[in-house]
Amino acid sequence: LVSDPAAGKITPMMVQYIEIKAANPDCLLFYRMGDFYEMFFEDAEVASRALGIVLTHRGKHFGRDIPMCGVPIHRADEYLARLIALGHRVAVCEQIEDPAEARKRGSQAVVRRDVARLVTPGTITEESLLEPARANYLLAITRVLRGGKSTFGLASVDISTGAFSVMEVESAALSAEIARIGAAEIVAPEALADDQDFARLVTDMGIPLSPVGRLLDDPAAAAQRLRDYFGLATLDGLGTLSPAETGAAALVVFYIERTQRGARPALSLPTLMRFDAHMEIDAATRANLELTQTLSGRRDGALLAAIDRTVTPGGGRLLAERLSGPLTDEAAIRRRLDAVAFLRDDRDLRSDLRDCLKAAPDLARPLSRLALQRSGPRDLAAIRDALRAAEAIAARLDTVAALPDDLKDAARKAASADPTIATRLADALATDLPLKTRDGDFVRVGFDSDLDALRRLRDDSRKVIAELQARYAALAEIKQLKLKHNNFLGFFIEVPQAHGEKLLKPPFNATFVHRQTMTDAMRFSTTELAEIESKMSSAADQALVREMGIFDALAAQILAAEGALKTVAEALAALDVAAALAEIAEAREWTRPEIDNSLDFTIEAGRHPVVEAALARDGKPFVANDCELSGKGDGPGLIAIITGPNMAGKSTYLRQNALIAMLAQMGSFVPAKRCRIGIVDRLFSRVGAADDLARGRSTFMVEMVETAAILNQAGERSLVILDEIGRGTATFDGLAIAWAVMEQLHAKNRSRALFATHFHELTHLAKQLSRVVNLTMRVADWKGDVVFLHEIVPGAADRSYGIQVAKLAGLPPAVVKRAQTLLADFEAGDRRKTVKPVADLPLFAAAPAAPSDVERALDDIDPDELSPREAQAALFKLKALR
Ligand code: ADP
Repeated sequence: LVSDPAAGKITPMMVQYIEIKAANPDCLLFYRMGDFYEMFFEDAEVASRALGIVLTHRGKHFGRDIPMCGVPIHRADEYLARLIALGHRVAVCEQIEDPAEARKRGSQAVVRRDVARLVTPGTITEESLLEPARANYLLAITRVLRGGKSTFGLASVDISTGAFSVMEVESAALSAEIARIGAAEIVAPEALADDQDFARLVTDMGIPLSPVGRLLDDPAAAAQRLRDYFGLATLDGLGTLSPAETGAAALVVFYIERTQRGARPALSLPTLMRFDAHMEIDAATRANLELTQTLSGRRDGALLAAIDRTVTPGGGRLLAERLSGPLTDEAAIRRRLDAVAFLRDDRDLRSDLRDCLKAAPDLARPLSRLALQRSGPRDLAAIRDALRAAEAIAARLDTVAALPDDLKDAARKAASADPTIATRLADALATDLPLKTRDGDFVRVGFDSDLDALRRLRDDSRKVIAELQARYAALAEIKQLKLKHNNFLGFFIEVPQAHGEKLLKPPFNATFVHRQTMTDAMRFSTTELAEIESKMSSAADQALVREMGIFDALAAQILAAEGALKTVAEALAALDVAAALAEIAEAREWTRPEIDNSLDFTIEAGRHPVVEAALARDGKPFVANDCELSGKGDGPGLIAIITGPNMAGKSTYLRQNALIAMLAQMGSFVPAKRCRIGIVDRLFSRVGAADDLARGRSTFMVEMVETAAILNQAGERSLVILDEIGRGTATFDGLAIAWAVMEQLHAKNRSRALFATHFHELTHLAKQLSRVVNLTMRVADWKGDVVFLHEIVPGAADRSYGIQVAKLAGLPPAVVKRAQTLLADFEAGDRRKTVKPVADLPLFAAAPAAPSDVERALDDIDPDELSPREAQAALFKLKALR
């Protein structure tokens, strides 16, 4: 594009467009023209495709049609939402002067325009673009090289609520942390964004990545930027931020300032988080366990939806956040559990609190919109109602003795706002509120006498004039005096000719000014009338200005108390979560888990919260199962090998135990009769197998990459869930890998683990390795059909029931029959030819004490150091070693 008008026939408007577009090359440009946002050139093509709107053209550029499409401003939010969801960034360019002003500069003059803000997935604040019960995080990531190792600084901000936290992670934990935060957009310095591994990690998670060109890796400049943003003389109050953390925090602030064009969202001071404060759960495990959405992408059917009984958007966001990041600190978990336990037992209190909370709209987001000057009257009403609810809640909690710490804390916080704010808002706001401030009429009648007067002038012009007519008639002592209006004189006083002469003389001429004499009447005006007239004509405008002034004053009062209001919002969310967890604990008969720092893992009669609920809907019972992975004394925990036919309930069992651990550590009661868990620091899973063809990885490759990650990272405190390792290759390959993996887990990682498998040979491991136990899903044989009892018992499955399961699935009877015959043959053949006991196979002859080649090769692998290509090569090498 060329912006030089001399270079071709190009209108001044296009010159302006091209200039603005050039300044925002990475955004679609919404160019305001009257009641539309127009897009031109390539933007128009992209947007028309993405939005399914008509592509037209307007004018020519170097002889060619300029493609154009547009969206009406009143529907702009809806279109923005769709573009943002597709990962686009949009620069919204507004007219910044009245078109009339531009015309004064000449007929060719173009209305001044400028980009008002950039709308990106991580920086939206509009209610219509946000999901109420979901946080919307913008995550800035920086990398610092230290001693040849990469350390990453992470700063996450939810502009819609002001939440801001920073942390530092090693590269091994990076993807798990990104997955926990669940960012809507990631910002990174160009150098990092260009790093292939990093870019791939981010795109694989489906998160839009926004590179920032300006380098901010000078720690002093980064610290200065933070001090400026928060108006602080020193950052010492934040704790000791590392260079990576300072860099990330400065980057996130830089990006926010850039996208908000100077408007400053009211961010909280960054809280410094330790990445080990949370159970580390990688993205694959999160997906597999269907925490917030199912593998097919639905919310319904995921754990979060199944346990969510919150009644406020803030509570919904906090619950999702807690579920994403179960804690690892015993005392912190206990405090949360105390609150849930208290509210479970005190039903009256719980139901009162929940009633109050139901009346509490979102507080954090309206507050944030207010700070960004993007709010309307309904935001004020939301703040009023939330504060009222908080007052009621604080008062109710005040009546309760011996509250546990977390509830005491919430009670104190709920009462921290200045009560006059809610009162003033209640006094000021009308009952029916318009969406936008400029629609006016949101201030209650009687709140401001000047405003009321202006409105009276606007609305009651007839009445005002009628009153005036009576007054003037009395003053002039002329009964026939009338107030009239025409376009030429505006309002005027008319009296019959016969009486008019009198008004030309003192004392009347001091008030009445002669304007016109008609054949039978005379017309006069007064200064007062002229004033009223001009007041009346501009009354509507003035009323609006006055109202906006009142809005601003209210906003200023609220923003002055912003910190306290944020605290109130936090308290409401925390109470909502505690009450909601208490509610479900009672409804579903969940129990309080015991949490300690041992390596134990004992669950009695555990259930899968989602499967149980699904079965209950069909009127079917769920069979509760125990899980005992505690080792001897203080020693490491056990590895349980679980065999049993397909459909017996192995996956359900694996997942339910992982979910119970997560629920317990997020501070929730759990679906079990008893539960005692030594804190789990990392949760690993390798379950389900989905081809990742988009990345050119076979099922087997995905499985091996995930398994490698587990073996490289899991430790004594970890919980590992493995489902069917080694299935995607030839039987002996698979068995060998599975066997070697088990040995490694036992000897080196020493994690608590559940391993479901079809390789019955693996059950021999229990004889060789001290901490391996066998479990199996009980099935019954009923007249040749398999009946699943879904009950876990010690021991190994006797056979696989594959054919019975296939029969249940509806395989044609002829095929089932044929398979049965073949199986009988194979088994008979097997007995004749390969009578060797399994343990005599060369594969299993290796003494478990001496590391195998595979083991040694695994030891040599450092996944931190490997590129994907090297990882693949390593795996091929591993395979070749069998
Ligand atoms: P597997 O992994 O052994 O193939 P799943 O765990 O997928 O089996 O379970 C298959 C089905 O069995 C589930 O969809 C569920 O309906 C049912 N099921 C599993 N566990 C239980 C249980 N403990 N009680 C009742 N039904 C269960």
